[in-house]
Amino acid sequence: MPVSESIELEEASVPEDATDALPINELFYSLQGEGRLAGVPSVFVRTSGCNLRCWFCDSYHTSWEPTHAWLDVDAIIEEIEQYEAADHVVLTGGEPMIHDASETLLERLNDRGYHTTVETNGTIYRDVPIDLASISPKLASSTPTPERDPAGDGEWADRHEADRIDLNALASLIDAYGFQLKFVVTDAEDMPEICDLLAELRAATTRTIADEDVLLMPEGATRDRLAETRTRVAELAMEHGFRYTPRLHVDLWNDAPET
Ligand code: SF4
Repeated sequence: MPVSESIELEEASVPEDATDALPINELFYSLQGEGRLAGVPSVFVRTSGCNLRCWFCDSYHTSWEPTHAWLDVDAIIEEIEQYEAADHVVLTGGEPMIHDASETLLERLNDRGYHTTVETNGTIYRDVPIDLASISPKLASSTPTPERDPAGDGEWADRHEADRIDLNALASLIDAYGFQLKFVVTDAEDMPEICDLLAELRAATTRTIADEDVLLMPEGATRDRLAETRTRVAELAMEHGFRYTPRLHVDLWNDAPET
């Protein structure tokens, strides 16, 4: 039984004008699984390509081994509009902000009255209409060291480590948009880094970052792995006064694609 609805992507050649087309890995209708909008029916547009390489990436085929079909923005809008019950769209990846055409798509969705969430690693700022910037800064524990590299011997480690935090981009995103800061937490060792980054961000932004804007999310893309991490992460959220976010799509559908 399908757990969500999706379109069949046609393979297409790389377009000449990259401002009007996006490499799409998946486009489907499901429930938002994470964050303050968890449970809201939403159309997901998952772009391919990422500027980072977290070892635990749960969208492997947008980062370590990117696969996609190119769709122009008009075609993406047409597909989104087929899901008539949905008024929320989640632009995700990979890292959707690396693509110029994400700006075009977000502007068109805004014109049509959709609520847009952008799931981003927070390393790139663009001046576009976004209702909720769901910012997930990557901690040191995400770095693909040789021991943790899923695809090699740690060739990406230095680049990932150098690029994973951009304080200016993070502050600009927080200043410009409705936002949530969502941290993937593996264990208590992540907390000092989260608290330090939060202090730096609070000093760098003009907005107030309330503790409830800070979400701790257990690392794990399968029910088995979440069972190992979630209780500890929930306890850490209570200890620090931050918000815990479940991964509803994993609870409901485990690691099925297009959820
Ligand atoms: S930033 Fe996100 S999409 Fe990119 S490698 Fe990390 S988890 Fe995957």
